[in-house]
Amino acid sequence: MSTAPALTARHRPSQAAARLPGVLPHSALDAMLDAAYETHRRFRHGAYAESCPTCHVPAGELCLARRSVHAARRQAHRARMTQTAPAPLGAAVAV
Ligand SMILES: [Zn+2]
Repeated sequence: MSTAPALTARHRPSQAAARLPGVLPHSALDAMLDAAYETHRRFRHGAYAESCPTCHVPAGELCLARRSVHAARRQAHRARMTQTAPAPLGAAVAV
């Protein structure tokens, strides 16, 4: 019995990775996405600064739809950001 087919099958993922250097395994992408959402939630970045009108979670919590932010929550964040425009650049110099 030859071990050549088994070795070929074992090395196939590394060969595929060599052909596509930017591709990461799904488990790594899942972990990166979870970490990004957790960081945004923890520091209340973006839409996580608002409570969700759809699933009614408070600000700083993940939406009940995993790996998604409800559109109404994003819209509420955008509406608040347009209401709180940053101070003009020359305001600090004028004092
Ligand atoms: Zn939600």
